[in-house]
Order: sequence, then structure tokens, then C-alpha cells
Amino acid sequence: LVILGIETSCDDTAAAVVRSNGEILSQIVSSQADLLARYGGVAPKMAEEAHAKVIDQVVQEALDKAKVTERDLSAVAVTIGPGLSLCLRVGVQKARKVAGSFNLPIVGVHHMEAHALVARLVEKKLQFPFITLLISGGHNLLVLARDLGHYIQLGTTIDDAIGEAYDKTAKWLGLDLRKSGGPAIEELAQQGDPGAVNFSVPMKQHKDCNFSYAGLKNQVRLAIEAQNINAEIPISSANSEDRSARANIAASFQQVAVLHLEEKCQRAIEWALKIDPSIKYLVASGGVASNKYVRSRLNLVVERNGLQLVCPPPSLCTDNGVMIAWTGIEHFRMGRFDPPPPANEPEDAKLDLRPRWPLGEEYAEGRSEAR
Ligand code: ATP
Ligand code: FE
Repeated sequence: LVILGIETSCDDTAAAVVRSNGEILSQIVSSQADLLARYGGVAPKMAEEAHAKVIDQVVQEALDKAKVTERDLSAVAVTIGPGLSLCLRVGVQKARKVAGSFNLPIVGVHHMEAHALVARLVEKKLQFPFITLLISGGHNLLVLARDLGHYIQLGTTIDDAIGEAYDKTAKWLGLDLRKSGGPAIEELAQQGDPGAVNFSVPMKQHKDCNFSYAGLKNQVRLAIEAQNINAEIPISSANSEDRSARANIAASFQQVAVLHLEEKCQRAIEWALKIDPSIKYLVASGGVASNKYVRSRLNLVVERNGLQLVCPPPSLCTDNGVMIAWTGIEHFRMGRFDPPPPANEPEDAKLDLRPRWPLGEEYAEGRSEAR
């Protein structure tokens, strides 16, 4: 099997060609980071236009680099949700055009499932069931993956995701946002003292597996204001005192943001092992899982519980086409796909887009466990 994967759910336009043995034949990502830095966030209409501008080229490059043509493909996989519907539409239309022209089946992929399953491409020994922590700009999930397509949600965020907190902290600290905020904070935090500012760990009193990052984000904003740090002055122009104040905030923020992950992962492991004691792995994926400090702290938690941590390499943690192609392969193998769409489908055909699409069912006993 050779599958083309297409991803346009947020701000990256990505495509990849992957073989069913896990061989990555090509991987292309076109990022809108520059655009985001200029306008300070994702504006759906602007993101849609940016995807539309590059999608043909990104897909063509993925095919060329893999040295295949559409005729060599077995199917096309594409993200159908969750995400911005204007953006999802660009990828789905492209996927249906390719599939319709070459009579290929289509696999509609859940973006967060793909973040989790790509770990199985990386680590061939990773069998179901496993626990997964998905941490990115829009999601903060703890999920028990019992089997392909069978997920139990142990916890989610009640407000912001950790990546959002990294991105805002980076913006308020005047960091260079042409890269995304997360890596900029990770780098700056290495020069700071994590004990310098006393942020409190969110949701200490909640004995569940849910997350909250809005309060921490606010604590950071207040600390930045209290220290008169001016985001208009880029950190590259700040004097050394100002610079070290910023580094201290970055380090203190990161330590507490990750402590919150550690505490909830510990509880999720306990819950999950009660549901299924055969679990051996915890997968961490999504953009924030490419952070080295996050990985090393999670590794301690996981090892302490006698489990093993699987973390895809950074290029497979952040949004990419490989994870979509791979998830397409997993479902295709089980016979889960849609028939080829009609060739020359009209532009205004109704598409199956799922902007809000939970990954699995909520863990029903969670509430009584939390007591
Ligand atoms: P979602 O998967 O929720 O739709 P997303 O589209 O934002 O989210 P990802 O590419 O999975 O996509 O994650 C991006 C997020 O990861 C951003 O918030 C970014 O700041 C964060 N991130 C990336 N690298 C790092 C890092 N090294 N440290 C911390 N955060 C990081
Ligand atoms: Fe993502």
C-alpha cells in the first residue's frame, strides 16, 4: 500500500506519501508562521486563502519527492476534523479531486487520532492498548486507546491548551514569532531560573484528569506587567537585566505548565491501569511533545509507573502529512474507507467536514473516580 496524506486543519499545509510498512517516501510542510507573526493569530479566512494558494504545489511536491504518481497510490487520506472548517475544506476538496480523477478510495482522518497513531509508525512494538497525552495549540487530551478507532477520553482541557499558553507567553515576552512560540520559550527557559517566579500549579484540588491553562496564562501576564516588560521591545534589543527577567518568567512558566502535565498523567496512568492492567506504553504527541523538557519530565513519570514513553520525533509531533497518511493506512487495512468520489465533483458539493469531533467517549466513571 502507498497512501497520500493531506492535512490543512489549522495553519500548516502538509502532504506526505507513506508506505504501509511505515516507510516515509516524502514529507512536505508549508507553514503560515510568517503570516501568523504578522497578524498575531490564526484568522480563518486568511488561513484558508494561504492553504488554497499552496495546496496544489504541496501535494505535487509530495508526489514528486516520493517518486510516485497518482497511479501508484492505493488511497488518499485527509483530515476531516477537528479544525477550522474553512481550512479543512481546502484539504478535503483537493483530496477528493485527486481521488476522483484517479478512482482512489478516500479515508477521512481525525487529526488528534493521527497525532496519537503516528507513534505506531515510529515504534513498531507499540500495540493497543496504550495511554496517550496529546498536547498542542488547540488540544490537551488524555486518552486511553483501547483499539483502532476505540478511544476513551480520560481528560481534556476546561479552557486553554498548553500550546496556547506557550504561544501567548512567547508573544508577551517579545520573542521572535516567526518560529512558533513553543520552541522560542523552550530555548529562553534554558537561560532562566525556574524558581524565580512562584506560579501556582493549576487544578491541584481537582482529583480528575482534566487540564486548565487559562489561569496560568493570566498569572504569566500579570507577572510580565508587574516587571514592566515591554513586548514591543524585542528580546534581541533588551538590556541584560530585562533579558534575564524574561528568561526567568519563561523558565518558571515552563516548569509549572509541565508539572500540571505530570500530575494529570500520573492520575491517568492509575485510572487506565484499573481499566486495563495490560497497558505498557504512554504516547506523548502533538506540537508541545517536541519539547525536550516536557519529554524528560514525562519520561520520569512514565518510568516510575513501570511503563515506557513513546514520543515521535519533533517533525512528526507538530502538524504533518505523515501522520494523516499513516492513520489512513491503519484504517484502510481494516476496510474502513469511502469509495472514490465522482470525477469532476462540483465545487459546491456537500462535504463531510467535522470541525468539532471528540476523540472517543468520555470516561463515564471519571466523576466518581475524582471524588
Ligand atoms: P491541534 O493539534 O490542537 O489542532 P495545532 O494545529 O496547534 O493544534 P501542532 O502543530 O500539533 O498543532 O502544535 C502546535 C503547538 O505546539 C503550538 O502551540 C506550538 O507553540 C507548540 N510547540 C511546538 N514546538 C514546541 C516546543 N518545542 N515547546 C513547546 N511547545 C511547542
Ligand atoms: Fe495538531
